Amino acid sequence: MRIPLIAGNWKMNKTVTEAVDFITQVTDKLPAPNEIETAIAAPAILLKSMMDANTGDRLQIAAENCYYENEGAYTGETSPMALKDMGLHYVIIGHSERRRYFNETDDIINRKVHAVFDNKMIPILCCDETMGRRESGEDIHWVVSQVTAALKGVSPEEAEHLIIAYEPSWAIGSGKSASADQAEDGCYLIRQTVADIYSDEIANQVRVLYGGSVNPENVSGIMNKDNIDGVLAGGASLDEKTFLQLVQYK
Ligand code: PGA
Repeated sequence: MRIPLIAGNWKMNKTVTEAVDFITQVTDKLPAPNEIETAIAAPAILLKSMMDANTGDRLQIAAENCYYENEGAYTGETSPMALKDMGLHYVIIGHSERRRYFNETDDIINRKVHAVFDNKMIPILCCDETMGRRESGEDIHWVVSQVTAALKGVSPEEAEHLIIAYEPSWAIGSGKSASADQAEDGCYLIRQTVADIYSDEIANQVRVLYGGSVNPENVSGIMNKDNIDGVLAGGASLDEKTFLQLVQYK
């Protein structure tokens, strides 16, 4: 049984005051984590205050990124070891904005996936797909190659805990979500890729999320699909009421 995960990705938004206010307002209104898991990924600078404000056990606070080394002369980077020490469980790795604006390659993403697992946390591995690739039919190859490259050297024992998000670039922040069927196709492809690399058993344990202009209107259609175990929502996670509407998708 894969527990649904409704996750927010705040990107580079909110101040400490705004973040604490949000957590204080939602923390007691969320479902029990054995029914629906909820998470908010936020910039590193906000995480400690959010953890302190998160008094219940219902919301996971997650990081949006980390480096692949635990410590050293890497000015400005975020240590995965420090995130673990803060009590975090999840770190987004390989978001399309990291790939595009910060030149993160498959190799860097693979190292980060290992660093997160080595620190006993779980990566929310994102893979994207562009409209150009979709139209030319290259999208399948692209999604498969990103997942395969990111999981190089990852053991089956680690892989079974993985969360992978299918996030078509053309749907991110555009207000133009993939249809529920397109989202299902992408998530199915990811699950099949995991089955090819590991086994059907592991593929059935991995949670696959859809991300890209998810909102309270389209969330339940997306969540109804067999291979979609949750969503990663950007814009719709910034406002308390809208995030709670996503969580109450049923
Ligand atoms: P969006 O962002 O929901 O604002 O499209 C999703 C994401 O980038 O994770």
